Amino acid sequence: MLNAQSIAALAQKFHGELIQPSDAAYEDARKVYNGMIDKRPALIARAADVADIIAAVSFGREQNVLIAIRGGGHNGPGFGTCDGGLVIDLSRLKSVRVNPKARTVRVEPGCTQLDVEHAASAFGLAVPAGIVSSTGVAGLTLGGGTGYLTRAHGLTVDNLLECDVVLADGSFVTASENENADLFWALRGGGGNFGVVTSFLFKAHPVKAVYAGPIFWDLKDAKKVMQVYRDTIGNAPVELGLFVGLKTVPSTDPFPREHWGKKAVALIGAYNGSGDNGVRAMKPFRDALPAPLFDWMSEMPFSAMQTLFDPFFPKGLQWYWKGDYVKELPDAAIDAHIANIEKAPSELCLMHLYPIDGAAQAVKADETAWSARDARWSMVIAAIDSDPQKAPLLKQWGRAYWETVHKFNPGAGGYVNFMMDDESEDRVLAAYGPNYPRLAAVKKKYDPANLFRVNQNIRPAA
Ligand SMILES: Cc1cc2nc3c(=O)[nH]c(=O)nc-3n(C[C@H](O)[C@H](O)[C@H](O)COP(=O)(O)OP(=O)(O)OC[C@H]3O[C@@H](n4cnc5c(N)ncnc54)[C@H](O)[C@@H]3O)c2cc1C
Repeated sequence: MLNAQSIAALAQKFHGELIQPSDAAYEDARKVYNGMIDKRPALIARAADVADIIAAVSFGREQNVLIAIRGGGHNGPGFGTCDGGLVIDLSRLKSVRVNPKARTVRVEPGCTQLDVEHAASAFGLAVPAGIVSSTGVAGLTLGGGTGYLTRAHGLTVDNLLECDVVLADGSFVTASENENADLFWALRGGGGNFGVVTSFLFKAHPVKAVYAGPIFWDLKDAKKVMQVYRDTIGNAPVELGLFVGLKTVPSTDPFPREHWGKKAVALIGAYNGSGDNGVRAMKPFRDALPAPLFDWMSEMPFSAMQTLFDPFFPKGLQWYWKGDYVKELPDAAIDAHIANIEKAPSELCLMHLYPIDGAAQAVKADETAWSARDARWSMVIAAIDSDPQKAPLLKQWGRAYWETVHKFNPGAGGYVNFMMDDESEDRVLAAYGPNYPRLAAVKKKYDPANLFRVNQNIRPAA
């Protein structure tokens, strides 16, 4: 338990905000993105700078309280908060510095994808990241990071050059290929297990206009669409970041009213290049497929594509996540996917298969902690609704769906950022596969007492 005296001592050296349950700001400050998470930390330390982070880590260690680190707060199981402990909230740290000559971007840990996209796009650059702009860059990066640019430029971690980190003992280090290389290796997929990252340096890539958007078909065409996608994406140019999804046409504008609420299959993607080349890249898909309900792929700024889904996913919805890495997608698995989406308990429920081939597969499995380099897709099942009453139903559907498709991915782990906190330790082991023992050794070196354990936890080696 934290006592008033210890908090007062911390306040003397803390430049940000210290928010306690009795403060007016507490109710809002304790909320994370997933409305299913309802935790009450004893103290939220909203850091103003690195000195504050050092002070907060040392405080948490000395007071022997649970520590949660919060970047964007988007994590499914809500690892950006905890009950009764200390939240180190990094949301104020939002500086982004673009070096257009070196094509690098330095990012503070409170940034969302939108912050980085906004700063980098002014220079015609982008850092590979995810598909929803409100997602925190810190948690996404530390878990791996997949998105539209993965096939061409790899995962977000494959574009990470350097991190500054506050370790469990309160010391500050830089990690890169040349400095604390073991820590740098572990940070590229190992999540928030090793310390608080206070700065990320990324490689950026030229991205201006893209040919992008969604194409939706009725669910009766789902098998054909998924088969064609499976058989075609591997030969498509890597500039085309295209995923396949099962979902429901949202009952809202601008979707055509006659299709509202229809179960559907969609191809959604972005081609980094001219519209003509984008149309060419999509031709093998379109030629092999029946007429869609609507086809909204067109030329647009990359930032428009990155924010396309934001209106559907405001903060506070109920989310339940399950994932798997997928090597093969046999017809029987496609049938199982379709049967499950037919039973979805809400319009927002979805399944996406994100391609992780191309540049992501060019990296060896032991080059970064993120090891699933032989998988072709990262699958996510997300059960989503605005009604808290539906939480049990969402969990039930998500779990049952996953059970029926996981058998087609024998032994596979899943992306740690698509897992809840009800997964067994075996699932975390499977997520890292052969890299787990090395991660446990790095954990033992940098965080032997497992101070940072509000995460998909890697236990320090014995
Ligand atoms: C709507 C939505 C869309 C998404 N789309 C994608 C996608 O396209 N691609 C993809 O790869 N993922 C995607 N994700 C998953 C996303 O990567 C995870 O939710 C991720 O955890 C979000 O990071 P965050 O910083 O917002 O989360 P937080 O909840 O703040 O943190 C997540 C985890 O990271 C740790 N952490 C955060 N900051 C730091 C830090 N500075 N130092 C050390 N540890 C830290 C925390 O302790 C926690 O364990 C999506 C999530 C949502 C909700």
